[in-house]
Amino acid sequence: MSKVKSSETVKVVVRCRPLNRKEAAGVTGTPGGRGGIVEMDVHRGQVVLRNPRALPGEPQKTFTFDSVYDASSRQRDLYDETVRPLIHSVLDGFNGTIFAYGQTGTGKTYTMQGAWLEPERRGVIPNAFEHVFTQISRSPADRQYLVRASYLEIYREEIRDLLDPNVHTPHVPNVHTQSPHTLELRESPESGVYVRDLTSCVCKSVKEIEELMNLGNQVRSVGATDMNEHSSRSHTLFLITVECSQTGPDGRQHIRVGRLNLVDLAGSERQAKTGVRGERLKEAAKINLSLSALGNVISALADGRSGHVPYRDSKLTRLLQDSLGGNAKTVMVATLGPAPQHYEETLTTLRYANRAKNIKNQPRVNEDPKDALLREFQKEIARLRAQLSHREGRGKHRKEEGEEGWDREGDEEGEEEVEKERKLQKERLEEENKAIREDGSLLAVEKQRLLGEKEIMMGDLRKERDTTEQLTAKYKAMESKLLVGGRNIMDHTSEQQKTLETRRQEIAEQEVEAKTKKLKKLYAKLQCVKAEIQDVNDEHVRSRQELEQTQNQLTRELKFKYLIIENFIPPEEKNKILNRLTLDPEEDQWKFQLLTPSESQMKKRLASAVGYKRPISQYARVALAMGAHSRYRAENILFLELDMSPPTTVSLDHWPSEVRPNCSPSPTDNAPYRERATRVRKSRSWCQAPRAITSSSSTVSLATHSTATPSTAQ
Ligand code: ADP
Ligand code: MG
Repeated sequence: MSKVKSSETVKVVVRCRPLNRKEAAGVTGTPGGRGGIVEMDVHRGQVVLRNPRALPGEPQKTFTFDSVYDASSRQRDLYDETVRPLIHSVLDGFNGTIFAYGQTGTGKTYTMQGAWLEPERRGVIPNAFEHVFTQISRSPADRQYLVRASYLEIYREEIRDLLDPNVHTPHVPNVHTQSPHTLELRESPESGVYVRDLTSCVCKSVKEIEELMNLGNQVRSVGATDMNEHSSRSHTLFLITVECSQTGPDGRQHIRVGRLNLVDLAGSERQAKTGVRGERLKEAAKINLSLSALGNVISALADGRSGHVPYRDSKLTRLLQDSLGGNAKTVMVATLGPAPQHYEETLTTLRYANRAKNIKNQPRVNEDPKDALLREFQKEIARLRAQLSHREGRGKHRKEEGEEGWDREGDEEGEEEVEKERKLQKERLEEENKAIREDGSLLAVEKQRLLGEKEIMMGDLRKERDTTEQLTAKYKAMESKLLVGGRNIMDHTSEQQKTLETRRQEIAEQEVEAKTKKLKKLYAKLQCVKAEIQDVNDEHVRSRQELEQTQNQLTRELKFKYLIIENFIPPEEKNKILNRLTLDPEEDQWKFQLLTPSESQMKKRLASAVGYKRPISQYARVALAMGAHSRYRAENILFLELDMSPPTTVSLDHWPSEVRPNCSPSPTDNAPYRERATRVRKSRSWCQAPRAITSSSSTVSLATHSTATPSTAQ
């Protein structure tokens, strides 16, 4: 009966919903504007809980789980990462359980069901429906499936069948004539704990199973509390059983049965918090019984030492017996609210979830169980098929003994032939009737007897036709309930879904390809830019080094010049130079001012000095005009004109022979001559009267020289 046997722990994930409007208004002062006491590290699977009333220095509480989903997480993320593998296992014949645990209003129902009409917000249950039927339609054609669903709730420790046909008034939707039946739990060594007489509906498509869920939801016990207006006060279980038959290596048909429990628990909060009284408090006490029993079971299993696990303390724990420590793969989704006022409840949920991580299960494939409905179906179908073949054989006398393989096309052909045969028989009987009536040779009594016989034969024929029709209808109905892998899923939406998914995958692949190409291009560009940046950096380093060298050189030169200035230039000279320095803003250079004043800076000649080189008083002018004392002469103090005195001639004969011109005299001998010849008056004070000049020796010498020169030339 069992195959793969190994142990694995319960997978625990934690999800925190966003702050709602009411809570956000209360925690506006929280840093970051996000508020809340729950922080999640999605990559590490860690939850950090901040105590709003913590004393300074008190450490925060940290928990680690298989996965954590923060306020921004999407329904699809949780499904794909956490639930999808579990659904695959169920289709392979394992038992699977997903249960949502947490305080009221933290998102248990949102996680399990979500908003059905919004694809992005559909929860685990609708996504699982689609997943199951899509997988079946994609499985190999040699597999036959039978999918069944049941829906129940545990309300005040009573089990109610939410699909009870007596509750749902046919043809009048949303009208429920009576409350659902209370059912009992039973246990058998074959199938473990089960609910007796629980309605189980065979579903052929997503649409059918969704309709079932809607029907069940309409009769759920929903009450309002202070915490959540639509809070469910009951634990609900939606059960899907998937049976799959497949030819094994031994050539025989084997059946695997996977059971999936989708559990949405009632709020886990302490009842004082919900503000309930009276009848509702009693209800709360009973709801708590199940939850506290669940807690005890989890503790006992997590502890691992205590031999006794109190499954029998509540209906919920009995139903989940296999899922907690038994033959099932289990996922627990613990839901949290981020509001500071729920700190204690949030901490309790986290501790609860933390304990559940230690529960070990022993999941195994359920192969060939005795109670597999699929086997019953297959037997019944075979029986009906045999009956129909027998009738066909009888009708046509053509059926060969031991003929096998009777496919649907064969069925239809056979039916047509049987129908034809019946018609022929009927026609034959009618003709015989007619012949008997028209036959005049027969006695009236004989005629009546023969007609009666024929009438009975016609009645039998009609009866047989009706029975065959009924059998065929039954056969067809039974057969249609079996889903064949790869085909037979008439659900159009599912087909569309499949195409859509394939298309989506294609688009995703194309997108990946395009993005990879783009990425490669951008990467190449990035490398180029990086190389360029490196080049520019190198260039910068080089030029900086050069500039530093130049700066060092210049500094050295400057120091050298300072040294010279300080040690070799008198400070006043330095100051003079400094004073002469001006900065030319246009050329941005220091320049020396000119030493000579420019023309514009030159002083103008005074008006009193017109005609004279320098100012001269009126008295001096008059005195000058009168030719008076030479002190009043302002100009020409230096006489440059030739001396007009007569030349002084000296006879050569009187010269001693040794000094005559044609003889070469010794320089010493010539000295007196030279002395006289070069005696040129260079200047004469303006105070010397011109008339007194005539007798000057220099004039003479000049005259002598001038007269002597032409003669010597001659
Ligand atoms: P519970 O079933 O735990 O009592 P519900 O599922 O009814 O809580 O959630 C209470 C409210 O919080 C609902 O209005 C629901 O839409 C909202 N909610 C819960 N979880 C989320 C989430 N992850 N993202 C957005 N809204 C959420
Ligand atoms: Mg709920």
